[in-house]
Amino acid sequence: MKISGFIKNSLIDCPGKIASVIFTQGCNMACKFCHNWELIPNCHPMGDTVDEQTVFHYLKKSIGFVDALVITGGEPTVQVDLIPFIRKVKDLGLYVKLDTNGTNPKLLRLLLQQKLIDYVAMDLKTIPELPAYQKLVGNQFTENQLLNVKKTIEILKDASLQVEFRTTLIRECHSSLDVRKMCELLEGDCKYNLQAFSPHKVLDADFETYSSYSPLEIEEMIGYNKDVNSNVTGNI
Ligand code: SF4
Repeated sequence: MKISGFIKNSLIDCPGKIASVIFTQGCNMACKFCHNWELIPNCHPMGDTVDEQTVFHYLKKSIGFVDALVITGGEPTVQVDLIPFIRKVKDLGLYVKLDTNGTNPKLLRLLLQQKLIDYVAMDLKTIPELPAYQKLVGNQFTENQLLNVKKTIEILKDASLQVEFRTTLIRECHSSLDVRKMCELLEGDCKYNLQAFSPHKVLDADFETYSSYSPLEIEEMIGYNKDVNSNVTGNI
């Protein structure tokens, strides 16, 4: 595993758990609003990596204190040894939360079949249509990747584990109709978190001039869409 960052203890990254967090190196997207672009090799020279042994040494000595490992990035599913890595984490009895952009349904299915993950948080960047995704991710985002995103959504909607979808709302990129469509896509009681955008230190300088919706506007969107998704919330 290529690991660029390691937080030993966090109370905010995995609901109800004391978690360690690792940030994996590399991503198959280049979202223009990305705040973690240091982890994308084609956008930034990679810094020092964290030794996998360092992570396991800490996890082993913290058994009984740390409950969970959050695997975020970057995009964790581009790591070729993700499955054996998580298996070792599960052998320690830890709860595993995986953050993903949803482009690798095949690997996700394997992780689910082998009961290696307990919680998945997927970024739904926008409505799953190519022009909308490309506006946020760039023209290198392919139809095939979009199909994979759609497959991942369907897998997660049917999965019997904790699932969260989340969207970072940018005024210039997401209309309230888009939010409605995403709530409809995740209808029922799928946990769906609307997040405010911060233009600080983003990958594409143009996005530094873009803005978020106000907390009040996001609250209004949440209220308006409760009829189709009772579990839409905001992180504002
Ligand atoms: S998927 Fe996540 S890590 Fe990758 S570029 Fe987009 S925001 Fe950044």
